[in-house]
Amino acid sequence: NTFVEIDLGEALNRNIRRCKYVKPTPVQRYAIPISIAGRDLMACAQTGSGKTAAFCFPIISGVMKSSQSTRRPPHVPRMSFPLALILAPTRELSIQIHEEAKKFSYQTGVRVVVAYGGAPINLQLRELERGVDILVATPGRLVDLLERARVSLQTIRFLALDEADRMLDMGFEPQIRKIVQRMDMPPPGIRQTLLFSATFPKEIQRLAADFLSNYVFLAV
Ligand code: AMP
Repeated sequence: NTFVEIDLGEALNRNIRRCKYVKPTPVQRYAIPISIAGRDLMACAQTGSGKTAAFCFPIISGVMKSSQSTRRPPHVPRMSFPLALILAPTRELSIQIHEEAKKFSYQTGVRVVVAYGGAPINLQLRELERGVDILVATPGRLVDLLERARVSLQTIRFLALDEADRMLDMGFEPQIRKIVQRMDMPPPGIRQTLLFSATFPKEIQRLAADFLSNYVFLAV
């Protein structure tokens, strides 16, 4: 019942220790092994449950593995090709996820960039141009980046949607659907999707049916 038992690799384990995480929270204990095994996941988890680490650890681990073997981002001037995308409803939450993901990916070679609305886009564009493995974004700003042809989602191998119910409450469903459509229509199994939501109403069940393949359902 420790993180070491989950076997996330030396670099991640070191960062987990640095963050003083000793014991996984319930959502981490179940979600991380399921995700490491490559399964799609629908997780019902509240704020404060430790859900950020629950999707960040497997994504960082997966990105590290992909980078070592197959990572060859295409060369298109000023266009970024992230391997992983984390969508969050608000600027505040996206900043929070970015801060945590940076701590967890310290000295792993994995680069995390955040892009949210309500702030000048130029600084975010510069950060993207310096390279990005994991992009944390709010849906509206990401659609803007896609329309400016500054981000491509063709190389996305890992997708996490955080607080999906809140994103739908805020009216982001059209943007989210547009974003997922841009992901090169991989055959099931190529893209791994982790869907996190505090509640599981009809609308979220529909998203899960549309975006996930053969998924594990977890409620903690
Ligand atoms: P979250 O639900 O992801 O917003 O996390 C809530 C808070 O718990 C954050 O401040 C995390 O840094 C902290 N946290 C998450 N997982 C653990 C853990 N396994 N051990 C100690 N603190 C944790």
